[in-house]
Amino acid sequence: MVQEYKLFIEGKFSDSSTGEAFEDINPTTLESLATVQVAGIGDVDRAVEAAEAGFLIWSEIPAPRRAEVLLKAARILRERKEELAVLMTKEMGKVLPETRGDVQEAIDITYYAAGEGRRLFGETTTSELKEKFCMTMLRPIGVVALITPWNFPIAIPAWKIMPALIAGNAIVFKPASDTPLLALKLVEILVEAGLPPQVINVVTGPGGTVGKAVVQHPRIRAISFTGSLDTGKWIMEECAKTMKRVSLELGGKNPVIVMDDADIELALEGVLWGAFGTTGQRCTATSRLILHEKIKEEFIKRLLAKAKALRVGDGLLPETDIGPVINKAQLEKIERYVRIGKEEGATLLLGGNRLDPGLPGYFFEPTIFTDVRPEMRIAQEEIFGPVLSILTVSSLKEAIWAANNSKYGLSSAIYTGNVGNAFKAIEKIDAGITYVNAPTIGAEVHLPFGGVKGTGNGFREAGTDAVREFSEVKAVYIDYSGRLQKAQIDSE
Ligand code: NAP
Repeated sequence: MVQEYKLFIEGKFSDSSTGEAFEDINPTTLESLATVQVAGIGDVDRAVEAAEAGFLIWSEIPAPRRAEVLLKAARILRERKEELAVLMTKEMGKVLPETRGDVQEAIDITYYAAGEGRRLFGETTTSELKEKFCMTMLRPIGVVALITPWNFPIAIPAWKIMPALIAGNAIVFKPASDTPLLALKLVEILVEAGLPPQVINVVTGPGGTVGKAVVQHPRIRAISFTGSLDTGKWIMEECAKTMKRVSLELGGKNPVIVMDDADIELALEGVLWGAFGTTGQRCTATSRLILHEKIKEEFIKRLLAKAKALRVGDGLLPETDIGPVINKAQLEKIERYVRIGKEEGATLLLGGNRLDPGLPGYFFEPTIFTDVRPEMRIAQEEIFGPVLSILTVSSLKEAIWAANNSKYGLSSAIYTGNVGNAFKAIEKIDAGITYVNAPTIGAEVHLPFGGVKGTGNGFREAGTDAVREFSEVKAVYIDYSGRLQKAQIDSE
């Protein structure tokens, strides 16, 4: 019997008003893991109402006490790490070491956010007037909504939920329809850890209806969204209508530059992991290899040998390197881009086809194109699959130009043995993240995460900025002179 999951509102599972449900499909076996109810507009209202009640309770609790709930949640997550990782591999396909990493990232951000409970610092400063004191303080926003994608089913929700909670907000959470189970498990764990039940409420169902209702809800004060550029643009436009704060973490077309002075073996390992880890379905995945012409031939020869050796299959098996892609639509999108690449005149060196590893799921071969020119669509558009495009350059200057020739600006990397080249790349690449002698993937939770240009709208997640995303700053002036003092007028 496949279990049916209801909406999670006010700390309990409750029936949706639509009477509809959708299947949560295992992309490896195509079996149904669960059915999950589809929220209606009235259910979104219910979730907001519950969150408003939750906000009154939660925002009154001092932040260091709120942190105790998060600490307990982190401990439960740690105890249940393996069980959650196995479920995640079944729900979205990536290999077990990576799903363990995903849960670990959730544990890390939960501990980190708990620590922030004693660091919700404001600033103090002098006044231009005598006997007057000035400071800033952080206040929660109110009811905030979180909308997340499927590729990090527990880490990305945790990146948003934990800072939002420690800052004192209440939450309406719309997880991706491909990975609702992990989202529900995370929320259950928070309630088990002592979070007052109304503080987090989950509405499941399609982005086009449930997500839309969340975005348009007049009493939600902020939206934190991670997903595609197109959805992000639409959300930003909609949020203008109700003057919501909106933070966007969108796509990437992340370049790795490999210079002729690089440690070739190190660079090969980094390119392989960056391009094909998580089946290329990371926002920070390496999708463009910008290769110095002097090492091109040797590098490609060795890269092909390594890529051919990658084993695609069931992510639960220890011998598997690459799992399936998430769903049929994504598989078809990757096929479409392979066709586009060929039509554009790029040379297909490896892969390009669906794969049958003896399982019915959505498998695709690791795919490599070379002779890719910067203006080609396969060099410009996010494919979100195991497809690497190789561009050739003859200098660092040209490499940096190629890296920046993108509407996105999330992650980037350079492999070089020359410290000058490394610093020039750090300084000149337009991206939120630059790695030196390391792949484009592998962010840590205590550093800010986000990108420039089409990747986002200036916010950063994680790191010290995490709490700011979910806080309002208030300026406070305390005049203890006992007389009316006029700023800009009396100070002359
Ligand atoms: P997506 O289609 O934009 O969906 C993301 C979330 O938005 C899902 O929960 C989706 O619901 C919901 N949604 C869809 N349409 C909506 C609408 N009109 N209003 C409100 N919500 C809506 O993206 P995806 O395919 O799931 O994720 C892949 C994308 O995420 C890639 O572009 C990737 O680069 C990006 N990403 C970025 C980061 C980052 O930190 N920068 C991290 C990870 C992923 P349904 O699931 O029901 O469709």
